Amino acid sequence: MKIENVFKISVLVLFFNLIVACNSNQDKLIKKQYFIFGTIIDVLVWHDDEHLVNQALTEVETELNGMHSQWHAWKDGRLHEINHALRAGESFELTDEEVQFIQTTQLLSKQSLGNFNPAIGELIHLWGFHTDDYPITEPPPSESEINDFLAHMPNMEEIVINNNQISSKNPRIWLDYGGVAKGYAIDKAINILKKHGIENAIVNAGGDLRSIGSKGDKNWKVAIRKPNSEDVLAVISVQGDESIFTSGNYERYKEFNGKRYAHIIDPKTGYGVEEIVSATVVTDNGTKADAAATALIVAGTKSWQKVAQSMNLDQVLMIKSDGMCVATVKIMQRLKQSDLQCETVN
Ligand code: AMP
Ligand code: MG
Repeated sequence: MKIENVFKISVLVLFFNLIVACNSNQDKLIKKQYFIFGTIIDVLVWHDDEHLVNQALTEVETELNGMHSQWHAWKDGRLHEINHALRAGESFELTDEEVQFIQTTQLLSKQSLGNFNPAIGELIHLWGFHTDDYPITEPPPSESEINDFLAHMPNMEEIVINNNQISSKNPRIWLDYGGVAKGYAIDKAINILKKHGIENAIVNAGGDLRSIGSKGDKNWKVAIRKPNSEDVLAVISVQGDESIFTSGNYERYKEFNGKRYAHIIDPKTGYGVEEIVSATVVTDNGTKADAAATALIVAGTKSWQKVAQSMNLDQVLMIKSDGMCVATVKIMQRLKQSDLQCETVN
């Protein structure tokens, strides 16, 4: 055999070995479940090294548990201290990460045209939604209590951050991050997984989720739940880094004299939203998706398109209390196993 043929064959063998080496990793589906934020969090990872995945997930669990205790809207922790200082007219020193998070929520609030307003914790408290016991059966707040709050309505632009010092001139500010905390936590979890070299995963908190990569050569598939039920509304095949969040006004509510009051509150009226039962958003990160879903429910049929445009959202699905739905063309084109007939807009 000619020497150059021996060389050719050995290069081929080497190349073949490389291909086998690339394919020989035993990527498999690793599933873990946690109970954080009062919700079951399912983590799915497509990876070959279970030990590395476990290490990453231990870090995720520690971070998320820490966040849950520190950023609770009405229990002791960092957020409680921040709120205490703001309502006393004092300033408070934030960490760099806290500055970044609060500034992100200021921007999201602005982009949502004030429909997502995490400064209305006092109003949420007034309605009795700072509790873990549902449904709430106490009477709603009086009109004069609501009007008094509306007259002093705080907004996120009234928060000033200078050299990590947070302060505000409005003592009615009470930060309640219930509308965005899950999204932020899921983003944090995904960042930790990426830091550990994990590129294919889903972090799913009761249907609100972010996915990265794929499940081998297949896309991840996720289900969107029907409002008020465990049934599947539609299935979506997720492409790479995407977040899908649904906000519903049916899960937590106050019920008094046969009337239900939703826990998502319209800052313009001071009352829980009624028209939209659920809003689903697909976008590129959990924090934005979570804030946007809450904002769209508040915006209602009248102004959801304005909010979607301002927040740069092109995948939205809204279900109304009369059972009808409105959606963007782009999200409708992606829904599988669904018999939804929605009015569509671009
Ligand atoms: P979500 O399920 O993400 O829509 O969040 C609902 C939670 O967001 C409520 O339980 C409140 O803590 C909070 N919330 C209610 N109304 C608003 C609002 N207009 N803007 C921001 N957060 C809100
Ligand atoms: Mg939300």
